Order: sequence, then structure tokens, then C-alpha cells
Amino acid sequence: MQQTQAPCDAWLQFLEFAKAGTSISAYRNWLSPIQFVSGTPEKVVLKVPNIFVKEYLLSNFKKELATFLPSQTNGEPAVEFVIEKQERKPRPFFVAPNPIVRTEESQEEKEAAAFEAQLNSNYRFSTFIEGHSNQFVKSAAIGVANRPGETYNPLFLHGGVGLGKTHLLHSIGHHIREHHKRLRVQCITTEAFINQIVDCLRNKSIDKLKKFYRSSVDVLLVDDIQFLQNRTNFEEEFTNTFETLINQHKQIVITSDKPPTQLKLSERIVARMEWGLVAHIGIPDVETRVAILLAKAEQKGLQIPNNVAFKIAELIHNIRQLEGALNRISAYSRLMNSSINEEFVEQTLRDLFHLAPKDKISIDAILKSVASVFQVRVTDLKGHSRTKDIAVPRQVAMFLAKELINESLVMIGASFGKTHSTILHACKTIETKVSTDEMLRRQIDMVRRNIEMQRA
Ligand code: ADP
Ligand code: MG
Repeated sequence: MQQTQAPCDAWLQFLEFAKAGTSISAYRNWLSPIQFVSGTPEKVVLKVPNIFVKEYLLSNFKKELATFLPSQTNGEPAVEFVIEKQERKPRPFFVAPNPIVRTEESQEEKEAAAFEAQLNSNYRFSTFIEGHSNQFVKSAAIGVANRPGETYNPLFLHGGVGLGKTHLLHSIGHHIREHHKRLRVQCITTEAFINQIVDCLRNKSIDKLKKFYRSSVDVLLVDDIQFLQNRTNFEEEFTNTFETLINQHKQIVITSDKPPTQLKLSERIVARMEWGLVAHIGIPDVETRVAILLAKAEQKGLQIPNNVAFKIAELIHNIRQLEGALNRISAYSRLMNSSINEEFVEQTLRDLFHLAPKDKISIDAILKSVASVFQVRVTDLKGHSRTKDIAVPRQVAMFLAKELINESLVMIGASFGKTHSTILHACKTIETKVSTDEMLRRQIDMVRRNIEMQRA
């Protein structure tokens, strides 16, 4: 194709092609900022605003680029990228106010200090271990921290529990506080934000709070936005704050356990959250988990042999659980004055190993065990009956699938022919029930043992 066409036309054709298979916001964010600089039948030069756009293009469209544009003998697209220089004038909020040296805090600063939230001092880029699953997300976070308000706004980080979202969020906060000293960073969990509103409504200081968020914050870091779901009264206040800040080009970073489109929030705020960069943080591979474990052990002054670290990391996928395991090993090895070897670790973490999947547990194995303990048929569990006798065991099967199978809720949902939110709802229902229903707790334990025995 490229033989008979001017390279610029070929580029335009590629864009037409890519547009057809890309969402409007992805096209606007990633593809439309790319400029065609020059081209010959041998090579095309493209200008991109930053390295992420280049990465996006190559990881999503390498084959197509090589088809539409000149290619090298090895089949790779013959494209050279130049990164656009940032020649923009600094935005007003980056401009230093006259450097007045203040000896005393103004009333306004005192009021602002009352709302400011702390950052966890351990959560820094330097302590965040990089691997395949989080490389992109980490570089996006560093990009935003280096040039707040200028790259992706908002930056939306989503992924499962214990995978480092809060760690990255606070790292951004530390970096900005250290490198952009004039910018005022507010980092807050959604729960704390809601509590602030409630407190201020109670003591009639809501106007002060609004003023703080809308005029005393340059960077807003919001953790766990999923807690804004079903809180309609607070959603509006959050949306207004969000829009005021984003319209002033102030950086916003949000974390969530699911992507914006899966959040039960108004279309207006979901669309706004998708406007910038939505980045997923996945489960790290076993090598990264080993690296994280060894780094955390070193911080605690613990020596863990590599084979032992590998054994632990192979079985425990969640990093928060990995840290829990490490804390326990640390305490026990001190108490018992024991060296840390495979046998010691196996004994110390017996229950965690018991919970962690050895081979993959299948949904079928779970359904069979649930069916036999609850005396129902597997076909009933797979069916749609809503009678209590069937609905509860079905929810138990979903609850155990989430606990025992290392898959996303979406994947687990698909195996049951349900959505991820049905699975989540089932898990919450069972969690609540077992706290008061001893019989149910025992039945679930029995299913767990049943599954274990079959795997042994
Ligand atoms: P999330 O907010 O996604 O639930 P956190 O950020 O609270 O997870 O991470 C849980 C724990 O795991 C924290 O102590 C954090 O320091 C650690 N952690 C997660 N990912 C990494 C990583 N890539 N490198 C080092 N520590 C990590
Ligand atoms: Mg978190």
C-alpha cells in the first residue's frame, strides 16, 4: 500500500482505520495529538506529545502501522518518533507569587491546615517495585508527578485490593510536595472526604470546606472513589469540586477498585473521569512478587533465602497478604530464635498456604462441593431459581470462587453467567451472614475442606 501512496496520505488512512476501532475518548487522548512531521517511502517521522503516546501507538497498532506505513525488513514499522518539546507558558498556579517570607501563618492558612490530610511516609516511588503488571501505571504516575496538570488530567488508577494503588497515589503526593513546593497537595480517601462534609454540615462550616477545596488545593489525590457509589448527596459536592479544579487545570488523581464505566456514579462524573488517562494496575508476576518480598524483608532487616521467598511469592498473590506473611515470619523467627528456611515458613504460614491456591481450583470443583454439602444439585446452582434453598448455596459458591480462584470478578462472573457486581453482592451477603450464622459458617468450612481434600 505504501509503495503507491504519499506517506502523509497513508498516515491519514491509518488514522481513519484506527478511529473505527477506538473509543472516542481514546482516540482524542492518544491518536489525535500525534502529528505527521515528514515521510519518505523508507521512513515516517511522527511527533508525539510524550513517551506514553508512543508506547500506546506501538503496543496497540504495531502491525497496522507496518501495513499502512513503510516497514523495515524485519516487519517492524519504519517510524521515527520525536517527542514534542513543552514550550507552553507555565500556568498561573505555577507562577511564584511574590516571594513574601511569612513568619506567621495567615488565618486562611490555619483554616486550610485543618482540612489537610497526611501522606504515608513509606509510600514513595523509590519503594514501589516495578514489574510487568505495573510498569505503565508507575511511569504514568511519575509523568503526572513531574508535570502536574500538564500531562493527563485526571489520572485514574484502578485495580484489585492490595496491588499498590494507594502506594502510588501517595508517591505522587510526596514527589509533588518535594519538587513543586508551591503546589498545595490534598490527598484524601473518599470516606474521609465524606466525613469532612458531614462534620462541616454539622458545625455549619461547609462554606469554609468548599472554599478550601476550590481555592486552596492545586493537586487533589482521591483514594478509593468506589465509596462514592450510592452516596448521592456527596456525589454532587464531589463532582462540583472536581469540575472546579479541572477547569483551573489543577491535577486530579483518582484510585478505584474498578474502571470508571463500572462505577455506579452519574454519567457526568464518569465521563469526566475518563477524560484523562485511565490506567490499570494488575497482579504482579511471581518474579515481581519475589522482588517486593525481598525489598520489604530488607527494610525489616530480615534475611530470607531466595528459594524461600519464591515459595512464599508463588502461593500468595496479594501484596498486602505478602506483607502480612512477612510480619508473621519476622515475629515468629525472633520469638523462636529460628532461622528462616522452607520448613519454618511452611509451619508459620500454614493457614495462608492452606488458603492460597496450589493448582488452579475450578468453578466446577467448587460447585460440586457446595452441592454435596448443601444437598442441592449442581444444575440448580447453575440455574436461576431464587428460592432461598438454592440462592444461598449459589451465593456461597460465588463467595468461595472469589476467595479461592485467582481471577478477576469479571472472569468469575462470566463462569457463573453473571456480572461482576452479582458476584460482589453475593460475597458481601455471605460475609454478613456468616458473622451471625454459625451453621452457615460451618457449612462453608466443610466445603473448603472438601475442596482441599480433593486436591490433596
Ligand atoms: P491498594 O491501595 O491497591 O489496595 P496499597 O497501595 O495499600 O494497595 O498496597 C498494599 C501494600 O502493598 C502496601 O503496603 C504497599 O506498600 C505494598 N505494595 C503494593 N504494590 C507494591 C509494589 N509494587 N512495590 C512495593 N510495595 C508494594
Ligand atoms: Mg488503597
